[in-house]
Amino acid sequence: MTVARIIVDIPSMQTDKPYSYRVPQALLSLVAVGSRVHVPFGRSNRLLQGFVVELVEEDLPSLKEVAAVLDLEPVLNQEQLDLVNQMRKTVFSYKITLLKAMLPNLLTSDYDRLLRPNQALDPTDRLAIFGQAEQVLWSQLPAEVEGQVVSLVKAGLIDLAYIAKDKKTIKRLKSYKVDAAYLAELVIAPRAKKRLLLREYLLAHPQGLLSDLYQTFSRDQVHYFRELGVLFLEETEVNRSQLYFEGVTKSERLTLNDEQAEVLEQLKDKIGQRSVPVLLQGVTGSGKTEVYLQLIDQVLTLGKTAIVLVPEISLTPQMSRRFIARFGQQVAMLHSSLSDGEKFDEWRRIKTGQARVVVGARSAIFAPLENIGAIIIDEEHESSYKQESNPRYHARDVAVLRANYHQAVLVLGSATPSIESRARASRGVYDRLSLTQRANPAASLPQIELVDFRDYLGQQAVSNFTPRLLEKIQNRLDKGEQVVLMLNRRGYSSFVMCRECGAVDQCPNCDISLTLHMTTRSMNCHYCGFQKGIPQICSNCRSSTIRYYGTGTQKAYDELLQVFPQARILRMDVDTTRKKGAHQAILERFGRQEADILLGTQMIAKGLDFPNVTLVGVLNADTAIHLPDFRSAERTFQLLTQVAGRAGRAAKAGEVIIQTYNPQNYAIQFAKNQDYEGFYAYEMPLRQRLAYPPYYYTVGLSLSHAQEEVVMKQAYEILDLLRQYLSPQAKILGPVPKPIARTHNLYHYQIIVKYRFEAGLETVLNHILALSQSPEQKGLRLSIDSEPQHFL
Ligand code: ADP
Ligand code: ZN
Ligand code: ZN
Repeated sequence: MTVARIIVDIPSMQTDKPYSYRVPQALLSLVAVGSRVHVPFGRSNRLLQGFVVELVEEDLPSLKEVAAVLDLEPVLNQEQLDLVNQMRKTVFSYKITLLKAMLPNLLTSDYDRLLRPNQALDPTDRLAIFGQAEQVLWSQLPAEVEGQVVSLVKAGLIDLAYIAKDKKTIKRLKSYKVDAAYLAELVIAPRAKKRLLLREYLLAHPQGLLSDLYQTFSRDQVHYFRELGVLFLEETEVNRSQLYFEGVTKSERLTLNDEQAEVLEQLKDKIGQRSVPVLLQGVTGSGKTEVYLQLIDQVLTLGKTAIVLVPEISLTPQMSRRFIARFGQQVAMLHSSLSDGEKFDEWRRIKTGQARVVVGARSAIFAPLENIGAIIIDEEHESSYKQESNPRYHARDVAVLRANYHQAVLVLGSATPSIESRARASRGVYDRLSLTQRANPAASLPQIELVDFRDYLGQQAVSNFTPRLLEKIQNRLDKGEQVVLMLNRRGYSSFVMCRECGAVDQCPNCDISLTLHMTTRSMNCHYCGFQKGIPQICSNCRSSTIRYYGTGTQKAYDELLQVFPQARILRMDVDTTRKKGAHQAILERFGRQEADILLGTQMIAKGLDFPNVTLVGVLNADTAIHLPDFRSAERTFQLLTQVAGRAGRAAKAGEVIIQTYNPQNYAIQFAKNQDYEGFYAYEMPLRQRLAYPPYYYTVGLSLSHAQEEVVMKQAYEILDLLRQYLSPQAKILGPVPKPIARTHNLYHYQIIVKYRFEAGLETVLNHILALSQSPEQKGLRLSIDSEPQHFL
């Protein structure tokens, strides 16, 4: 008989292995390796979702039977199943969690819950949707199973119902057209300035999107022309992901310079060969992206596919456009601001082979592509490639496994590689290629000047800006050139303090001060979401001498306006980019030169490529360097180099001003000289002396519980276990309370293990993982993070 080995959807140590089920005759033609199924589980035989990971012919007595198949085609392939087993060795999450991470949410949701009749859907909607879905499904079903596999259909219906419910998937797009001849002759009174402007615009753009009109003109004005019968509206339904492709004009490949051409040749040679990853170290603006594009071109020519990871794609719309402009509909986009339905659509386009180039954030590394020829990780040093929740995988590690499997070339690109990657390149674990010049022949690397705040004590009219920086900004405004200003917000926030007693308003659930938000006029906790009004009197001493502190972007913005009332300033931070598409809209306005200054947080540091920007100012370079994290110098260096790279990307020379209280700090000094290699050479001995990566590996264990005694007791038990299994060479730090010791009313402790070779590590960590689930540990949360990226 046919036996399916199935991983069921219960994340626990006990169930972290396949269970055997008999495949009944009726389902034989449908159950495949990689299919989702429903199986009865446990004494109560409740139905659970599971994944078939193996099929074998075997005679085992008294097995339970697979109850239903949920997919006509398996959703996972053998490569992905193998990947789970490999990842399980270093990612301390259960197999089911890893399996689910590879699929769009829509395919891993809790079906039983969705099947309940009262699930949000109106009964008539339900009928309509189900009726339609049923037809589609039956037409796809193989004839021999018709009438037998009821739950298969049901599950499929749920898929479709879910998608239909997800209104975001379909967008009604309103476009307009004008009768140009009539419009040109229309008599408009010279006093009706707005109408004249609108007419001018419409004559220049006789058709387009209604939403574009509304960006500049009011509804009343548009209505006026409609009433007159010169402007007509049309409504079309488009798939939202299609919208990415609208209005992107095709780009042609550029003629590469010698360095780029050499790099491309070397990369092309590795497609389809067994090879080590390549660290592509190229200064900002050296044309790495053009190299990626031409490499992918070659990959497609060979009939293969490609994955491109970018830090968080919603933050770099310019980047995604470049891929779409070159490869059009072959591109699938996967990023976090897509709805579940949109993600599912993109996943299906990839799975069916319609999309052959996947551009996306971290999780796109799991894209179900076959025959991969190239995997590219842009800005490889970005810590966002590590997932900070279960499963805690690093996309770079997954990429190495996938590239091996497919014999794909793996490119890790950056102007400022992570110290770990750069060290691997020194040891031959990676190959290293470099691009040393800016690609645009007219551009050169910008001049960087450090400005010491202490030189201007008492001379500053506004707190965020030294006279030196203000003078440079004025100069650009005079010349009609653009300015980018970055305010480093890490570790910084606006808060409220009492001048009488010094009390700072704290979150009642977390050991952290509340942040002042002027837009919502509230005090917010960034950890647990607690919110309250802005206090009028001190909660400690009842005095009314409350003062607002901090240098949020709002404050910097107000100061800029005060000094340059005539300047057009765009502000980009979490407050102004909350709405979907807002980020892109701001960048586009800046690109069209509708503003002189772009002021923002870290999010402006990446990927921007605007030729008219000739001055970049960093308002506060210091805020990240004193954080208790061994990577803080590295992060400061990376950030300053990246943001400096935004200046002078075309013909006009660029200049960078970095304001600081620590001009002698080595990270700032090396950033000033744009000297990555110097920074690397300086940093490595420090890492060695302190026994940190890349000389040591690290594992972070975090424990949380509502009672501090419980966390402490557990932490010491874990410490004992670690000592028992690990060699004396392993260094164990802690247990200690985390720097932010309490959030969400939970106490947090951490243990850090630093080690070089530990044969017993995997075993003991699995023990610890199991321990956290024993019944007496109720309420204890534990996470094991291999190579944690943040120590705060
Ligand atoms: P990076 O990804 O290394 O920061 P980009 O690929 O964004 O660099 O290139 C920077 C700029 O140089 C872009 O405007 C790009 O169009 C341009 N560019 C890249 N390669 C060439 C080339 N071979 N000739 C001319 N311009 C180029
Ligand atoms: Zn007080
Ligand atoms: Zn809180």
